[in-house]
Amino acid sequence: MDSDSLVVACRKCGVKNRIPLARQGDKAWCGKCHVDIILKGLDQPVAANDTTFTAEVIQSGYPVLVDFWAPWCGPCRTMSPVLERLSRKYAGRLKIVKVNVDESPAIASQYGIRSIPSLFFFKKGAVINSLLGALPQQELERQIGLFIGG
Ligand SMILES: [Zn+2]
Repeated sequence: MDSDSLVVACRKCGVKNRIPLARQGDKAWCGKCHVDIILKGLDQPVAANDTTFTAEVIQSGYPVLVDFWAPWCGPCRTMSPVLERLSRKYAGRLKIVKVNVDESPAIASQYGIRSIPSLFFFKKGAVINSLLGALPQQELERQIGLFIGG
């Protein structure tokens, strides 16, 4: 992967825009339809909790993969670098959100989280799929492909 720039698919027209990493923190605009491209959280997992879950996940314009995790959970820690790599790989097509269940008891309870890691796929606020336990990157990518359509 090119380490100096990030390829982000436009949420409106789908055209892939190459954005220099130095530009991150700025706004960027799609080269074709000129809609603004929001860079925050597109190439790295974003943390959410009981307070921010609705804004980060339910109201997101992107398909969202939520990782319910906790710092003391070994398998969760093994998933962490995988999710970081995937958030770069799928930048602009998939948003990855991490929810620490210890800090987010209401959300963890609402979604019936009994074991971690639990991975939930959300589209337009609805749960499309959920996976329990740590997964190899290859299998997770297969599931993401099914979720976002390749
Ligand atoms: Zn566009």
